[in-house]
Amino acid sequence: MLKGKSALVTGSTSGIGLAIARALAAEGANVTINGFGDKAAIENERAGIEKQFDVKAVYSPADMCKPAEIAAMIRSAEEAFGSLDVLVNNAGIQYVAPIEEFPIEKWDEMIAIGLSAAFHAIRAAVPGMKARKWGRIINTGSGHSLVASPFKVAYVSAKHGLAGLTKTVALEVATFGITANCICPGYVWTPLVEKQIPDTMKARGLTAEQVKRDVILAAQATRRFITVDEVAALAVYLCSDAAKSITGADLSIDGGWTAA
Ligand code: NAD
Repeated sequence: MLKGKSALVTGSTSGIGLAIARALAAEGANVTINGFGDKAAIENERAGIEKQFDVKAVYSPADMCKPAEIAAMIRSAEEAFGSLDVLVNNAGIQYVAPIEEFPIEKWDEMIAIGLSAAFHAIRAAVPGMKARKWGRIINTGSGHSLVASPFKVAYVSAKHGLAGLTKTVALEVATFGITANCICPGYVWTPLVEKQIPDTMKARGLTAEQVKRDVILAAQATRRFITVDEVAALAVYLCSDAAKSITGADLSIDGGWTAA
């Protein structure tokens, strides 16, 4: 489906982003992966994508806190593959604390990675997509793009902002064959969720099992974690021709969390 096209997924050295990058490569797209982590493990993933899916894969170490690096990453992807057709803004971090104790530098970092990075990447990618009259912009939002939870002020603010950014862009590019959507997952079992358990235990005075059962899965009607492959399948669908009229949408994939 995506043969001859190129995709870039930010924050794709792990979790949801990696699953999306692999799923787009499985559809024939050349991919740029991005994110932090062990050098050898990243190279292993990159080479593995090329071998398994018979596509080209490049790695960009761009830091999503740095606008100049983001713009350069988009330019490199266009140069490497001749175009950038699918942009997935997915990088994200989490931090859990009451607002009065929330570190100011964590707020700045989370807004930079979770919201401003998508602005910078879209701003740089849209001219090429407009010129080619085709593009897919997919932002990894969250159930927290739609509803709030206590102790996650920066995350919820960034994710709500991302939903607004998505809608605005969707309206601006709608007549150019470009769609922009926000995928809003509930709890997906990835390192991001695993890492917030100790802080939630501290903030709420609970055990790890209580956090999983009474805080995380209590919100999800299905009472199970969503898988990264389920989220990746939705991203692939959004790239299809059948999805060309879906734009400016917040697409929940949250086991019923935000239905309640
Ligand atoms: P993860 O920790 O497995 O992956 C996060 C990725 O972002 C990694 O590749 C990491 O290296 C990268 N990253 C972090 N800081 C970066 C920076 N400054 N520059 C470049 N890359 C950076 O987490 P995940 O759960 O796969 O999260 C991916 C996205 O999905 C995030 O936007 C997250 O908010 C969102 N999300 C996750 C869940 C969940 O339950 N896991 C639910 C809803 C939304």
